[in-house]
Amino acid sequence: MDFAPSERAQELCALARTFLDAEVLPHEHSLRNLGFDAMAEQLAATREKARQTGLWSPHMPESLGGAGLTLMEQAQLSEVLGEAIAGHYVFNFQAPDVGNMELLHSHGSAEQQARWLTPLVAGDIRSCFLMTEPDRAGSNPVWMDTTAVREGDEWVIRGHKWFATAADGAAFGICMAVTDPDNPNPYARASMIIVPTDAEGYDLVRNVSVMGHSGSGWASHGEVILDDVRVPAANLIGAPGSGFKLAQARLGPGRIHHASRWIGVCNRALKLMCQRAATRELSPGRPLGTKQAVQQWIAESRAEIEAARLMVLQAAWKIEGHGRFREDVSLIKFFVAGVMQRVLDRAIQAHGALGMSDDTPLAFWYAHERASRIYDGPDEVHKAVVARQVLKRFGMDTKGIGRS
Ligand SMILES: Cc1cc2nc3c(=O)[nH]c(=O)nc-3n(C[C@H](O)[C@H](O)[C@H](O)COP(=O)(O)OP(=O)(O)OC[C@H]3O[C@@H](n4cnc5c(N)ncnc54)[C@H](O)[C@@H]3O)c2cc1C
Repeated sequence: MDFAPSERAQELCALARTFLDAEVLPHEHSLRNLGFDAMAEQLAATREKARQTGLWSPHMPESLGGAGLTLMEQAQLSEVLGEAIAGHYVFNFQAPDVGNMELLHSHGSAEQQARWLTPLVAGDIRSCFLMTEPDRAGSNPVWMDTTAVREGDEWVIRGHKWFATAADGAAFGICMAVTDPDNPNPYARASMIIVPTDAEGYDLVRNVSVMGHSGSGWASHGEVILDDVRVPAANLIGAPGSGFKLAQARLGPGRIHHASRWIGVCNRALKLMCQRAATRELSPGRPLGTKQAVQQWIAESRAEIEAARLMVLQAAWKIEGHGRFREDVSLIKFFVAGVMQRVLDRAIQAHGALGMSDDTPLAFWYAHERASRIYDGPDEVHKAVVARQVLKRFGMDTKGIGRS
């Protein structure tokens, strides 16, 4: 295994860093304090400039207008972009669009790709992913109430979803719905269907307020009612009943993207902590960094970030064809989210009152990234997946482990 960034990856990361320093970070204070709505024009202008860098939609092939990066290169780039709150967004590399683009690219029909994928890659539209329901445990996704019933040339969808990130302003959502409720295999009961958000019966009820922010646009989490929404039969992605198979395929690379973005957050937090430790004097000539507790925060953070990075790169390397990776994507999901939470907490502590303010990005991330231990599967579910794989190697019958 050689995880050293290729020459190309180094060039791309340097390019991204220069762009962030010049075009994104100078506006970050305003973004945190005024919100995404107030900064919409500025963000749109920055996205226009990002389009010209050759790094636009880095995860998509060049033939579609993307930069055509390998997963490993995406992880390395994502770490750099993660240092800025809007880093991924300005390069059209933001969740949930990334996962939806990958899904449509690998499994969408030619018609679906022309209608939805092409404008998504171009950044002309946004999308959302409609899976979690308020009345059913999201960590047991096979237990779902939303149904899609075939009537002639249409699917009629009825259900209630929430926490659909970026539903506000999205042109379409990819909706997970039960299409074959009687299938004896619970993992073959649901399908993914493209739902245009202007379809009759599609109602974005509200943006759910999260940690004091109701959010808007891309930075929001919508509650959506689907009241007998009719969409063409051709909007089904892949085969009927393949929803969970597709979800698994969507989540593997998705966890690499999330985890490497979180490492970027950690890098920035550690940088801020070290700058503060070196310059904040507790008494004349005695900076914070002379205190052993602070030195330990720095050393522990360095070690954890390094471990997290190597784990993520190893998982990306395995996904790219070097072995089984199921255990690895669960490992990085809970481990890196935990590292991020601890590093942010230490950095806030080192900053004192300043750490609680919105003068640094630490408080923003501390609030918004708490969700990382819940979305795409809570910690406990991923730990159970890992434990199941490990215990199997010890000959234990692991059938019930990790099931809700
Ligand atoms: C900011 C944010 C963005 C999101 N974006 C999206 C999105 O775009 N689209 C979408 O469809 N969903 C999205 N979600 C929803 C997310 O995927 C779900 O919240 C998640 O799957 C957990 O489901 P739940 O909230 O229903 O929790 P529940 O399933 O009710 O679980 C509650 C808690 O129970 C515990 N638990 C659950 N199962 C087990 C188990 N097997 N063993 C031990 N403990 C367990 C865990 O601690 C868990 O946190 C988002 C969530 C957040 C917070």
